[in-house]
Amino acid sequence: MDSTKFREAAHAAVDEIINYYDTLPSRRVLSSVEPGYLRSLLPSGPPEDPEPWHEIQKDIESKIMPGLTHWQSPNFMAFFPASSTYPGMLGELYSAAFTAPAFNWLCSPAITELETVVLDWLAKLLNLPDCYLSRGEGGGVIQGSASEAVVTVMVAARERYLREKSEGLEGEAREDKIAHLRGKLVALGSEQAHSSTHKAANIAGTRYRSVPVHLEDDFALTGRGLRKTIEDCKAKGQEPFYLTVSLGTTSTCAVDCFEEIAQVAKDYPSIWIHVDAAYAGAALVCGEFQHHTAHFSAFDSFDMNMHKWLLTNFDASCLYVKRRRDLTDALSITPSYLRNTFSDSGLVTDYRDWQIPLGRRFRAMKIWFVLRTYGISGLKAHIRHHIQLGELFHSLIKSRSDLFAETEKTTFVHPSGPAGPGARSIHE
Ligand code: PLP
Repeated sequence: MDSTKFREAAHAAVDEIINYYDTLPSRRVLSSVEPGYLRSLLPSGPPEDPEPWHEIQKDIESKIMPGLTHWQSPNFMAFFPASSTYPGMLGELYSAAFTAPAFNWLCSPAITELETVVLDWLAKLLNLPDCYLSRGEGGGVIQGSASEAVVTVMVAARERYLREKSEGLEGEAREDKIAHLRGKLVALGSEQAHSSTHKAANIAGTRYRSVPVHLEDDFALTGRGLRKTIEDCKAKGQEPFYLTVSLGTTSTCAVDCFEEIAQVAKDYPSIWIHVDAAYAGAALVCGEFQHHTAHFSAFDSFDMNMHKWLLTNFDASCLYVKRRRDLTDALSITPSYLRNTFSDSGLVTDYRDWQIPLGRRFRAMKIWFVLRTYGISGLKAHIRHHIQLGELFHSLIKSRSDLFAETEKTTFVHPSGPAGPGARSIHE
């Protein structure tokens, strides 16, 4: 495809995409195809000879569209919002055009530096404490997903913990101590924490324990519950080294008791605490929710997905750490082919040392476009509008007495005892 053909094809593709968005409200949200539908519609292998773009493009409507679930439809109510906007798409287009897996600063200084700048912008916008900004010891890095962020920080937490606990030892004595400790490590999350923490523990090769949470606490992880689980683990000789706390759990949007957890953290400074704010973190752009960040300086890392609720196309998971050295100490390995004078000077950021893969996409571009196109006021208006819709939905549900008729007298009883003062009707 030469540049003339690309221009024609790109114009046709953009027209089709705009038409898709214009007609989205009238499209059925769920696909009705049967499993395996596509194989019967496609040839058994790629074409022997080149095909023109107009032939390829035709198949989007006839073959792909029937099998799409329309996440961007205003009638899509499942899972979570997955933002897609025109500025986000333009960012993706440029990113594809400039494809440059900028693992080191040298690979494309603009890619690294834009990421540092926009993540600092975002940190301020979300009211994160200054310790997460790049001008100090912290900083932000774009990951592919909140799950990837959890694995990344859990590995950094594991390595930091093992280093601290084997301090002063050398050689085989140190290796033996680390080998012994590895078998005892336990990662923690509340019962409502997203499954990515359990999965990360499987990947990192540690145990996982969930901390019980209760309806009377709105399913939030409390300091009391956390302390009990830590003490239980320690009594068994286990080594709790990592905890996920949530700002917006997946099932109930529980917000953990950050102040209490920060208090407990003082007694267990070696435990890495990660804030998972995958979808609800977007609400922090609004002043009325920013009190939630008041105790975040007591924690080690924070992650939110701009690609969920902040108008940015997948993927844009924004991870912040308080001490970037924790990441680089765990993840930096520098063979001769990755060395260069800029990295050696220590004056530049090489994001390969802040993530699991080496290569990386140019994801800062779409974040930059989104932040500039909507502005802070536009992002706040977007979140507030959605919250108003949620409140409207809540009031409509509450006004439907028929929905509650059968459960009118049902009262939640905590499994550990009869309903106390904290117990409440399940539809409250
Ligand atoms: N954390 C929370 C609270 C979530 O709700 C989700 C997904 O819904 C995730 C983590 C995982 O997100 P990702 O798909 O970015 O890994």
